[in-house]
Amino acid sequence: MELIKTVDGFLNWRKNQSASLGFIPTLGALHKGHLSLVRTSKKRCNLTVVSIFLNPTQFAPDEDLNSYPNTLKEDIKHLKTLNIDVLFLPTEDEMYQRTDDVNVPVTKLFNKLEGASRPHFFYGVTTIVAKLFNIIHPTHAFFGEKDAQQLYIIKQMIAQMNYQIILVSCPTIRDQNGLALSSRNQYLTAEEQFKASVVHKGLMHIKDALDRGQKNPIILKQAFEIILHQTPEIQIDYISIACTKTLEEITGIVEGAVLVSTAVFFKAVRLIDNFTYSSL
Ligand code: AMP
Repeated sequence: MELIKTVDGFLNWRKNQSASLGFIPTLGALHKGHLSLVRTSKKRCNLTVVSIFLNPTQFAPDEDLNSYPNTLKEDIKHLKTLNIDVLFLPTEDEMYQRTDDVNVPVTKLFNKLEGASRPHFFYGVTTIVAKLFNIIHPTHAFFGEKDAQQLYIIKQMIAQMNYQIILVSCPTIRDQNGLALSSRNQYLTAEEQFKASVVHKGLMHIKDALDRGQKNPIILKQAFEIILHQTPEIQIDYISIACTKTLEEITGIVEGAVLVSTAVFFKAVRLIDNFTYSSL
């Protein structure tokens, strides 16, 4: 594995490669979810590049940029074991020195769900992903379904900007109790993580109810709220049942493909999870 810290260094490496190249952008603090994306890339592509960059433009001033978990030594060990080709590890200066006021393509999906609670978030995400795509020049990019809205937005960005990149979506990896793995889970104790797995259980309750024929989104969301209210540490930010294409909230009867997604605060820790459901 080569460790490259500069844009010029990466471009220099890249110009000698013509094989298929899978790319996995991350914020670091890698867990089995990230590593499953890496494994999928290793299977699909000749070369695999991972970036670790804690992107400041996707954090609001009151968010956890300064306390975000940093496990770089272990991350490097994991990536070496998986035998990736390059770890791209740029500094903030390296990523933003050439353009500190950049406009990214904005889509109507930006202000829904996560964007409603974190208005800055997708501007930061698409800015850094576009910059990384332009540097890494991957043939394939691997993103997790855990961040479903991000996946949809990157898909739109690839289409709108004519990136010649195949987007591969990868399933959410969970712990043994169902809690979706997240770097932010490190903020929680083992007991708190167990309690937080109620988020997944609540979502699965919605799925079961849909399977049984309950198609009223108000009733489905109420059932989720009742389940989560049994854990006093949890505060629901949103529970949404939305059209997978527009992310508009379903107001009538649930039909077609929907994204059922939620964000909650466990004490101060923000956790997200989702599943997609198609009644066709
Ligand atoms: P992050 O470092 O949180 O920006 O995540 C980097 C990539 O890993 C994104 O494409 C995420 O969707 C993906 N990812 C994060 N957590 C998981 C998980 N539990 N399962 C699968 N993919 C994940």
